[in-house]
Amino acid sequence: MLLKEKEIEAMYFLRQFPIDRVAVSFSGGKDSLVALHLASRIGIRKAVFCDTTIESQKVIEFVKEVETILGVKIDIVKPKKSFWELVHLLGVPSVHNRWCCPTIKFQPLNEYARKHKIEYYVTGLRREESVIRKEYKKIEVNPMLPHVIQLNPIVEWSEKDVWEYIRKYELPIPPGYENGLLRNGCVICPYKSPKELGKVKKLEPEMWERFEEFLNYYAHISGIPDKNRFIESGWRSWRPPVKRKIVGKIKVNESGIVLTNGLEKRNFKLLKILKKDDPDKLKKAKILIEKELNCIGCGACLSLCPTGALYINREGLIDVDIGKCTHCYECLNSSKLRGGCIGRNYKLEVFIVDVEN
Ligand code: SF4
Ligand code: SF4
Repeated sequence: MLLKEKEIEAMYFLRQFPIDRVAVSFSGGKDSLVALHLASRIGIRKAVFCDTTIESQKVIEFVKEVETILGVKIDIVKPKKSFWELVHLLGVPSVHNRWCCPTIKFQPLNEYARKHKIEYYVTGLRREESVIRKEYKKIEVNPMLPHVIQLNPIVEWSEKDVWEYIRKYELPIPPGYENGLLRNGCVICPYKSPKELGKVKKLEPEMWERFEEFLNYYAHISGIPDKNRFIESGWRSWRPPVKRKIVGKIKVNESGIVLTNGLEKRNFKLLKILKKDDPDKLKKAKILIEKELNCIGCGACLSLCPTGALYINREGLIDVDIGKCTHCYECLNSSKLRGGCIGRNYKLEVFIVDVEN
């Protein structure tokens, strides 16, 4: 198929969706730029860029440049907690400690979609990009974006098509590619190859230096014998030394959930989520109490709630507006966020409660 035909097909595909419910999720990369340009040609004027707080400054400047050139408003959103606050609380992100995507990338995009009533995100994802993306379709559901449908108009395009399109419409070249970087996005990523990381260290020395301080610290507390190897690239497969601390006990009696052994005085707000007649109350109460005990205010779990009942309160911690809660228990779904909570899963010291049957 010729490029011209591919363009028409991509725009025809996007036209099926209600424009006022569609936004482009712009990453600052070449594929995403093409998707944004195609979307703007059919009148989609909303776009969002997530500044994960570990983006290259050049990419952020590029986002602003694209906004001016294309005349499309690109809203820049940021996570509730920055990458640096989270590394401090949860340790180095690695393939075994993957707290980063739900917190610094998808949390702001979910919040933006809810606030602006966005039902569809247009992306520049392409099958050719990686083995994982080989099976991608034009319409996808991403479990990290539970209330948004992902539209991938150029999923079948080749890299050659993308560059040809950029040249044809004289679009600006995204930064990074001239230095041999394969993709934009988070500067620090455990899925980057040692070669890519080598480039990152040269291109973003200040950010890398800041990260290296954490690497030194976590290598020290985990007793890593070969610190240099860990700092070089070994951190990508780090297994954090997690401690679990029992802080109290819970049981059920006729009046409901009873807290003992140190928890008596605590008022757990999330317990209001439980249905009065739930036969499985104790198990669910344990999850809700542990969620609250370990909450770091990252906001990642807010997207699990279909009615918007969950929110971060003035103290910066999880809370529930019980008037909006339908007791659907989606926020306890074990297949999402590994049990519905980042803090409960990834903190280095996790507070847990014992159950007394
Ligand atoms: S309850 Fe868990 S996922 Fe939700 S904001 Fe707190 S730490 Fe984050
Ligand atoms: S039970 Fe359902 S409605 Fe209630 S807070 Fe959890 S996800 Fe939201």
